Amino acid sequence: MAPELVAGQQVSIARLHGRACWYCGTVTTKMKPAGTVTLAGTTQEWPVVSCGCSPIPGQRQEEAR
Ligand SMILES: [Zn+2]
Repeated sequence: MAPELVAGQQVSIARLHGRACWYCGTVTTKMKPAGTVTLAGTTQEWPVVSCGCSPIPGQRQEEAR
């Protein structure tokens, strides 16, 4: 299962839409899925991406299986 993150109210819309790295905000052509993010107080899930700058919780476990 993809890790579910909970974000605060202030989050870049570009990150929410998977156009920028969720962790550092950079934009590259090598983005990897980083799970989904749920905004605090909502149930909407947003698929986000990572450039690989930060280890993604749960990702290694999925690959190991
Ligand atoms: Zn990054």
